[in-house]
Amino acid sequence: MRPVRAEIDLAALRANLGLARRLGAGARVWAVVKANAYGHGLSRVVPALAAADGLALIEIGDAVALREAGYARPILLLEGFFEAAELRLFSSHAFTAVVHSAEQLAMLEGAALERPIDVCVKVNTGMNRLGFRAAAAAGAIARLRASAGVASITLMTHFADADGERGIAAQLASFDTVASAAGLPQCTANSAALIRYPQSRRDWVRPGIMLYGCSPLPDRPAEAIGLAPVMTLSSRIIAVQELAPGERLGYGGTFGAEQPMRIGIVACGYADGYPRHAPAGTPILVGARRTRIVGLPSMDMLYADLSGLPEAGPGTAVTLWGRGLSADEVARAAGTVSYELLCSLNARVPVAVTGAA
Ligand SMILES: *Cc1c(COP(=O)(O)O)cnc(C)c1O
Repeated sequence: MRPVRAEIDLAALRANLGLARRLGAGARVWAVVKANAYGHGLSRVVPALAAADGLALIEIGDAVALREAGYARPILLLEGFFEAAELRLFSSHAFTAVVHSAEQLAMLEGAALERPIDVCVKVNTGMNRLGFRAAAAAGAIARLRASAGVASITLMTHFADADGERGIAAQLASFDTVASAAGLPQCTANSAALIRYPQSRRDWVRPGIMLYGCSPLPDRPAEAIGLAPVMTLSSRIIAVQELAPGERLGYGGTFGAEQPMRIGIVACGYADGYPRHAPAGTPILVGARRTRIVGLPSMDMLYADLSGLPEAGPGTAVTLWGRGLSADEVARAAGTVSYELLCSLNARVPVAVTGAA
């Protein structure tokens, strides 16, 4: 069998959620499981998220599947509804909707719902992606309060630079101004804010990436935060090539050997989810040893430099990311973020679940 594998460690997921809960210090936790639980498989991870107060995602089909599988706690749709016809599902399945726009507000006011729905009204405090501007928030809240379709209202915002230089101060100040006037429960704090700015946590927090064991902060490795990787992508060397000086490697011959080199051909490529744009030098584990990839990853294979690794050969285990080599580090070398690597895991990769309770 082709040796590429993803291992999903549910014990690590439970531990990471435990850390998020401790950082939340009593805040209720929406575990963010959008994008198929950041590539880990929604139905696979849900059993390990029993300690979360609710699940937050984007995809209404997945939300319906959660209810059908018996998930009874709150479910938050982070972009809310896109058309009035969907509101029926929110009502029948008790989904909580983010309401971020005047269009959604009008749909909600015009709907005749069997049961009113819970909403999170989103305030745009500087992300400038979704939400009512602070000056318009009071008007939106008043209309929601007057709407027969609305059961409860929570005030929500999303930080743009909790992991960066600007931080959250300006956004939090804007949010607090709206919040103190509104007197509603509040929902803030993605992973970066939860870890870096404990003062930003409110009644609800919304950690995502940290649950999967990656760090949202460029200057703090996951391990230093106390996070454990949930996904480990591994494979094996399936062939070895000895390159003579001047010989080139793979499609386009983008890499040339300057001295005699041993190259391990690894059964993992971009159709498995490895980034094609990862440059030569991107770290990889061969056995327990760190080395680098060289050449251009192809659809099914990539190339590991075996210089100084005489013990490595066909059959040697390789870790692309996960335990022993963080997805954050691989992502940084490849000019992307761990989120993208995790979400890219392809359906053809067999998955083994470990650490079930
Ligand atoms: C994805 C998302 C989160 C989680 O963000 P992380 O950086 O993964 O912790 C929280 N809130 C909203 C609105 C999101 O879209």
